Amino acid sequence: MLKVNEISLPPIGDEQVKLLERLSNACAVSGDEGEVRKIVMEEIRPYADEVKVDALGNVLATRGGSGERPLRVMLAAHMDEVGLMITSDEGEGIYRFESVGGTSATDLSGKVMWVGKEHIPGVIGLKPIHLLDPAESKRQFTIDSLRLDIGPATGRVKIGDRAAFATTFIQQGPSLRGKALDNRLGVATLIELVKHASPHIELQAAFTVQEEIGLRGARVAAFSFNPDMAIILDSTPAYDLPTWDIDENVRYNTRLGAGPAIYVADSGTLYDPRLVRYMVEIAEGHGIPYQIRQPGGGGTDAGSIHKQRVGVPSISVSVPGRYHHSPAAIVRLSDWQHTMDLVATALFLLTSEVLADER
Ligand SMILES: [Zn+2]
Repeated sequence: MLKVNEISLPPIGDEQVKLLERLSNACAVSGDEGEVRKIVMEEIRPYADEVKVDALGNVLATRGGSGERPLRVMLAAHMDEVGLMITSDEGEGIYRFESVGGTSATDLSGKVMWVGKEHIPGVIGLKPIHLLDPAESKRQFTIDSLRLDIGPATGRVKIGDRAAFATTFIQQGPSLRGKALDNRLGVATLIELVKHASPHIELQAAFTVQEEIGLRGARVAAFSFNPDMAIILDSTPAYDLPTWDIDENVRYNTRLGAGPAIYVADSGTLYDPRLVRYMVEIAEGHGIPYQIRQPGGGGTDAGSIHKQRVGVPSISVSVPGRYHHSPAAIVRLSDWQHTMDLVATALFLLTSEVLADER
């Protein structure tokens, strides 16, 4: 059997972490993914056979595919992140907004944000605790009650501008911390896989838009590619702090340090059992740690990809991360490395036989 190190994918080093840093610090709230798209285009253009940006803003790139009818394998990673959209200007640098993607008023209140293409700093103001009466302190926030304050610098923020959490990426020992690691980790992984693609398959890379507001970009990307199968790369929430429950946290979804999370089911998809089996076999056969993501809420771009055209056998593989959809997520470098190893090995050894198996 082939060993992982026979695959030409280099281990994650400074170059890959620097790329993730640029991707994490870039702002790409759903529907405004231009900053991340620009980095993706720069990185993959020299390697892809064909690259285009479709009508919604997805980056669609293909590479490889020798022989008469190579297996068409779509790899998808969403470029967008949660945040907010400016909806009205109340003067004096105060703006109303709507949330974009899965964030609540509680998640947003008191947070520092970067607004618009210039990353203008702003804060979502909170009434100081000194001024709260007892009834107010128990009240739930609504988005409507919050305002973004950038100070009176008129004309720089426009209606429709997006704002993202103002967080600068850092590496802390074995951990990486930054905003939007859901899903800049998937984007960075897919960039590496395009750079080091195995020529025997036709790699169809989709860097998708608008995942966080309903898997919209992936839907048209899958239609366009018409793939034989799909692998979705994302980062899934790890709910693994030690004392959530009385004795031990038994409600974890995934855990940091336990390797890539292979999906069996989520709220939008029942994953193809042949591909689940294949991923598990690859991991076990090559000594790559892995975990099965515990079924539950949330989902990935697979939710729209697997229902495209006549159906697309799909599997998702995610890097586990704590505190997604908040200003700072934490992930382990080792989980990212093992995710890269697993997907690269799976692609390197992939043949159409996988789909000829019994379900
Ligand atoms: Zn995601």
